[in-house]
Amino acid sequence: MRSGTLSIPGSILLLGFEGLKDFPPFLAAENLNILHSQGRIAPSFRAEIMERLDLAGKALNGLNLAKAFDGKSFREAFAKKAKIFIKPGERLGLPAVIGLHSSFEAWKDLKEKLNTEIFEVPIPPPSVPGIRLYNLLKTHLRARGVRLVIGLSVIRPIAEQRRLVGFSLGSSKKGPVYKASAFILATGKFFGRGLGSDRGKIYETLLDLPVLHPQNRKEWFHPRLLGTEGQPFNGFGVEVDENLRPIGSGGQTIYSNLFAAGGIIARADSMSEKSGGGVAISTGYLAGKLAAAYAGKNI
Ligand SMILES: Cc1cc2nc3c(=O)[nH]c(=O)nc-3n(C[C@H](O)[C@H](O)[C@H](O)COP(=O)(O)OP(=O)(O)OC[C@H]3O[C@@H](n4cnc5c(N)ncnc54)[C@H](O)[C@@H]3O)c2cc1C
Repeated sequence: MRSGTLSIPGSILLLGFEGLKDFPPFLAAENLNILHSQGRIAPSFRAEIMERLDLAGKALNGLNLAKAFDGKSFREAFAKKAKIFIKPGERLGLPAVIGLHSSFEAWKDLKEKLNTEIFEVPIPPPSVPGIRLYNLLKTHLRARGVRLVIGLSVIRPIAEQRRLVGFSLGSSKKGPVYKASAFILATGKFFGRGLGSDRGKIYETLLDLPVLHPQNRKEWFHPRLLGTEGQPFNGFGVEVDENLRPIGSGGQTIYSNLFAAGGIIARADSMSEKSGGGVAISTGYLAGKLAAAYAGKNI
């Protein structure tokens, strides 16, 4: 995947597939070549479109293509066609659909068959690399004995003074109760529904934690919708201490065994910083480690 790095000089072919609207290689190459001519990126780009691939009657989209690339015979047929387009010394950029369940094997196999470096370019959702990562994490966690409960809403917290004991899950108020030594709050901002609002205030939806935001509603928004300074409401969230534990306005820890990760954390304006995934991944990793360490201490 390193071969797609924009600091590595050379020639790159972006190869699109006829009918796959999510990956316009000519548009991408044209824009990237503008940056190349300005000296802002090292490689130069060229684009081609391969004639429609045969998916045995299935709709031509990222997910179906990725499943098809898992198959050896499909890759064989694809490589035969792709060879014609690649000039000697060119690296190859393909939409991020090279395999779903055995993507590494598919990528390695194509690299050998086409005798060139290959990298993937992300395309709009559903994101195949995202699904791969999700499946990898799920398999890894299950192998480590983690039980996953997916798709249920957390509706009622159970707390004893400054410690969370558990949560009830599901749509019924009498739903099953899950207890744990430590918890991670990763409910996101407004889009994820971790934050809610009415005309007078912003609130945290699950535990009613204090949310950092100006009382004056006029200060929630900038008049310039898409200004580089961003929108104040994108930075609203729950304040945390250095151990990612939500704190109150006086700096006091609210629950000793609750850690926060991702968009629910105050101040990071991922929209203007373009860092949402980065904040979610880095704080998620750290919150996991902190919660595990905390739980370990209590066992
Ligand atoms: C259209 C769009 C495009 C974006 N593109 C990019 C991009 O290209 N790159 C990038 O880095 N960032 C991007 N972002 C931002 C990125 O998606 C977020 O920063 C990131 O998803 C935040 O992760 P999170 O886990 O904190 O919250 P979320 O991804 O919002 O996840 C919160 C989850 O908690 C669940 N939840 C909430 N309340 C409850 C409850 N009571 N019980 C159970 N579950 C609950 C929600 O259902 C949701 O699944 C984009 C955002 C949007 C909206």
